[in-house]
Amino acid sequence: MRHYTIKDFKGDFPNDEACLEWLKNAKYPNGIFCDKCQKVTKHYRLAKRPAYSCEICGNNVYPMVGTILEKSATSLSTWFHAMFLMANTRCGISAKQLQRETGVTYKTAWRMFRQIRSMLGDDVST
Ligand SMILES: [Zn+2]
Repeated sequence: MRHYTIKDFKGDFPNDEACLEWLKNAKYPNGIFCDKCQKVTKHYRLAKRPAYSCEICGNNVYPMVGTILEKSATSLSTWFHAMFLMANTRCGISAKQLQRETGVTYKTAWRMFRQIRSMLGDDVST
């Protein structure tokens, strides 16, 4: 199997929009179930918010809610970049390296580092 490289990653996730779309598809593989309509309905992308709106009733769905991305001021594409780096670096990557690669502050890098590590299910004691 071919290795998934940073170049592939940048092609798949060129911006926040692509990341949000991926997140939506990962979270709702069979379409978005509308709580108000009580069925899977068509949802369209809202222009000004990271949300999708039900075509029938207008109920909004935020794919980031309930994930580590929900209350973060860091852009989705930066999070995805960090997750790519951490998932693909065999011998582990430090928060400092994460800071260098993604261009965020050390504080942000450290926070992402801890949250992604717990999400990936790595042994936190190491
Ligand atoms: Zn609806």
